[in-house]
Amino acid sequence: TAKAEGRQIYRFFSPEMNRRIQAKLLLEQHLRLAWTRGEISLHYQPQLDLKTGAVVGVEALVRWHSPVLGAVDPERFIPLAEETGMILPLGEWVLRQACRQVGSWHRAGYSGLRLAVNIAARQFRQPDFIDRVDAILAETEFDHTRLVLEMTESTVMEETEEAIMTLTDLKVRGIGLSLDDFGTGYSSLNHLRSFPIDQIKIDRSFLSDLQSPFGQAAIIEAMIAMAHSLGLRVIAEGVEDKAQVDFLMARHCDEVQGFFWAHPLKAEDLPALLRADYLPFPETALH
Ligand code: C2E
Ligand code: MG
Ligand code: MG
Ligand code: MG
Repeated sequence: TAKAEGRQIYRFFSPEMNRRIQAKLLLEQHLRLAWTRGEISLHYQPQLDLKTGAVVGVEALVRWHSPVLGAVDPERFIPLAEETGMILPLGEWVLRQACRQVGSWHRAGYSGLRLAVNIAARQFRQPDFIDRVDAILAETEFDHTRLVLEMTESTVMEETEEAIMTLTDLKVRGIGLSLDDFGTGYSSLNHLRSFPIDQIKIDRSFLSDLQSPFGQAAIIEAMIAMAHSLGLRVIAEGVEDKAQVDFLMARHCDEVQGFFWAHPLKAEDLPALLRADYLPFPETALH
């Protein structure tokens, strides 16, 4: 029987594998509780127009602080949440909470500020995904045209027909679409033309390796040129130093996000940055 087989398989696992399974189960239990205990929060990382240095948007990034486990990295618990289905209520909470927060900044005078929210594959594939987004936008009275959904290539490029229909529905509403972690998935450049997206977000792994002899710089250059020729905007993530900024400026990258200007911040720390007309280069700010 399946049960007996299961037990047998369990016996074949090495102690190391058993340990990992236990750790994962524990994490899952904690995540379920985290949910009801208010341990989940959002941080916001500024996205800047590279030419002007103005903050044009923020990306909402989920945070989990467990009193038992400490701060747990999203790279650990998001995949688990996807696997277990917890990403569905979690993702809705993120969207609602972020719309409420950024909506309050809109009403405080920063009405142009865009909000970028990460959407997991499992959320996007829900048959009623659009209805759920609509409901949250209505409930929070959030301006559709200020919302950008960040999705990875693999999320949108599977099940092509359906995906294109959903993306088109979003686009019709004025919702922006950004291809996250661009260059790391199975990018089909051919597909790119037929997907109604607005922006590609170059994965930070490319930038972290500008000096490598493997031509990362040439690849970024080509990605920017290609996106622009398709009428897409380009944002680079993971910008950490001045050399990267200079490189991106020379290649006319449109927007940037990274520790060089700001880490993901608590909501209360954002207004100070929004009040500035532009964020100075850190060196300038120090002198
Ligand atoms: P992502 O969407 O690609 O988000 C960018 C990640 O890069 C964030 O990590 C951010 O803190 C980090 N980052 C930003 N600037 C820099 C930099 O200059 N240098 C370096 N080294 N890193 C930088 P974070 O917050 O740990 O999130 C990791 C991933 O978890 C996200 O990658 C996203 O895929 C996922 N994630 C986070 N929040 C959510 C969410 O609400 N929903 C879903 N579905 N996924 C989320
Ligand atoms: Mg993202
Ligand atoms: Mg990314
Ligand atoms: Mg990522």
